[in-house]
Amino acid sequence: MESPAQPLIFRKGLDRRSEVAHVLEESYHSDLIAQIKAADYCYQSGRLRVYLAREFGFCYGVDRAVDYAYQTRQRFQDRTVYLTGEIIHNPHVNDQIRAQGIRFLSDPGESIDALTPDDVVILPAFGIPVELLERLSARGCTLVDTTCGSVLNVWKNVRRYAADGFTSIIHGKYWHEETRATASQAQHAGGHYLVVLDRAEATVACDYIRQGGNRDAFVSTFAHASSPGFDPDRELQQLGCANQTTMLSSESLEIGEMFRAAIADRYGEASGSRYRAFDTICSATQDRQDAIIALLDERRLDVMLVLGGYNSSNTCNLARICAKDLPTYHIADPDRLVSAAEIRHKPVDAKHEVTTTDWLEPRPGAHSPVFSVGLTSGASTPDNLVEQVIKRLDSLVNS
Ligand code: SF4
Repeated sequence: MESPAQPLIFRKGLDRRSEVAHVLEESYHSDLIAQIKAADYCYQSGRLRVYLAREFGFCYGVDRAVDYAYQTRQRFQDRTVYLTGEIIHNPHVNDQIRAQGIRFLSDPGESIDALTPDDVVILPAFGIPVELLERLSARGCTLVDTTCGSVLNVWKNVRRYAADGFTSIIHGKYWHEETRATASQAQHAGGHYLVVLDRAEATVACDYIRQGGNRDAFVSTFAHASSPGFDPDRELQQLGCANQTTMLSSESLEIGEMFRAAIADRYGEASGSRYRAFDTICSATQDRQDAIIALLDERRLDVMLVLGGYNSSNTCNLARICAKDLPTYHIADPDRLVSAAEIRHKPVDAKHEVTTTDWLEPRPGAHSPVFSVGLTSGASTPDNLVEQVIKRLDSLVNS
């Protein structure tokens, strides 16, 4: 039988950067945002003050992935170019990429089995599971791998845990592409994994480490979030912690500490050799979370707007931080600012968008004629959308 053609893999760009620079600039850049940054991240107009977080928007991994997608289109003009799915969690960016003629393998009617060695497939910034990479490789198509270096760092750590016989505890969302890819790396390296979403799930696992429990109930609870054949009596003895790169860093640290303490309680002095941790929150996520905490500390804001896809993990976590302090509206797009009386947004941890009325209200007890809005955006949100939000706010507040 004829062996399949070997894929050609591009990981370091495609030598078309200068040719696509102007399209990227037109599609995602904003002169207004550049001016606001130069003006100490503050926009003033009439009654309105908008304070931008000092880190927001496209992260280095997204910047690179989007750049490579455009370069791919430019370099392989006569070939069909696919993405495995959303390149990042932003509908505006995904629409722009579709408009370049790039197809999505996740769309109805598309199939990996129909790919040929003439096709080109772009892998997203958050990576893909090992099995999917193997399937694509077997088709012999050209691959453009945009997996972010910070995600590769997580993979390196979980593979090391597996090699040393440690189970990877991954703080993340088991359904998220990045976490599925990370889990597959642990499994492919011969290890086990358990994905915990939050403190509540970590508590279930930590209780089991300390005093055991109903094994079948545990397996059933984590059926979608653990490696095949996961036996908590066997797999919770040596643990290495890692995170999806976009989680809330304070929660990840706390969860890591919960597992360390549980192992210490269970194994006493021997616990040091049974627990490892690497902080795998990426620096872009950390910087955006730190910037928002600093903004809340520095400014007395009336409301906070967080712009980004509703399925964007890092954006949801920015909203979570802000919502503890003041009225916060996570919006997917500028058009969610319907009017001065109405905003459509997704509350923290809600599954669906809701409409809130009278949202442009000054904070209780505020006597200033100025209306202060804090604004940030997730790592997959381009600056031109942030500009549209500011312009919309300007017209709503000052009209
Ligand atoms: S959020 Fe972090 S890990 Fe994800 S693409 Fe951006 S820089 Fe890379």
